[in-house]
Amino acid sequence: MQSALQARSKLPDVGTTIFTVIGQLAAQYDALNLSQGAPNFLPDPKLIDGVANAMRAGHNQYAPMAGTGPLRDALAAKVETLYGARYDPASEVTVLASASEGLYSAISALVHPGDEVIYFEPSFDSYAPIVRLQGATPIAIKLSLDDFRVNWDEVSAAITPKTRMIIVNSPHNPTATVFSHADIERLSALTRDTDIVILSDEVYEHVVFDGAKHQSMACYPELAERSVIVSSFGKSYHVTGWRVGYCFAPAELMVEIRKVHQFMVFSADTPMQHAFADALADPSSYLDLSGFYQRKRDLLVRELRDSRFELLPSEGSFFLLARFRHFSDESDSDFVLRLIRDAQVATIPLSAFYTDGTDSGLIRLSFSKDDDTLIEGARRLRAI
Ligand code: GLN
Repeated sequence: MQSALQARSKLPDVGTTIFTVIGQLAAQYDALNLSQGAPNFLPDPKLIDGVANAMRAGHNQYAPMAGTGPLRDALAAKVETLYGARYDPASEVTVLASASEGLYSAISALVHPGDEVIYFEPSFDSYAPIVRLQGATPIAIKLSLDDFRVNWDEVSAAITPKTRMIIVNSPHNPTATVFSHADIERLSALTRDTDIVILSDEVYEHVVFDGAKHQSMACYPELAERSVIVSSFGKSYHVTGWRVGYCFAPAELMVEIRKVHQFMVFSADTPMQHAFADALADPSSYLDLSGFYQRKRDLLVRELRDSRFELLPSEGSFFLLARFRHFSDESDSDFVLRLIRDAQVATIPLSAFYTDGTDSGLIRLSFSKDDDTLIEGARRLRAI
């Protein structure tokens, strides 16, 4: 169809997200897909039965705007048991139509035109565009290229009277680092006595390796009182396509977030909420996840031991960074294209997670795949 209208773009420099681009190329070249942080295996059949049973029992209409009561109760109980914070299910817990929706609702509700929002690059690709859509300015601080840790002195220097929010993400997508207690102390000191809101993307909260403890903002009362914590059932229950997430925030912040949530999606899927409320009754459904993914990480690392890639440590999340620059001076995007075409393995170039396209010769591999896919993917990567 032809239109005489021209849309005046709000995001003129933004194209289609890298996950869609790489996914299409992977399909075109019939490549194994180690790119997206999405499992290629089935969830627990009990969870699927839970959804089907809820549908048959008639739970097919709008859920309450903030989420079903039993699910909000179960989430509040989980966060109190695991992290110690008490959130009122009535006013401080909201069920979302995905963690992505939560990021959007929180930023849109709390960030005003002219505000500045600090975040760290490389980063998940939605943060900066959402900030820009509010007429606010995203301030990217680069993680160290050696170990991808936050340089808190740089954060301190970047804070201005306009700083409204700092977005943090641990376990971190795409670098697989996790916050230490020292990070928490610096974040607390920098935000103390300010009106800065912390937006904490904790979607990999249950995927932390080698006995480390997830540093939720909900573990620290001083941080929790200025934080919006966003998380996702998709990552924890192998159902990223179901699009159900949740967030915790003090009532003063949540009241504003709900105003956006109610007009964007109104409510999240009803039958899924019933199934997740039942699933949460069994804590092993999320407590076993770190071990499950640690075995997958170890399998991929073992299978890539004899490859030419240098693997960076993966402390949590679904991801592993692999360095290729010592054996190829191709750009990371060209290298990824060659892997898809010649080796039939799809990965993500790390430059896609930088607004300025910083290329450090690294690719991101996702090990949220069945073991056969990981073994075959590694075999193909060893041939490079
Ligand atoms: N969070 C997932 C990843 O980083 C997928 C995100 C998406 O496809 N939008 O791979």
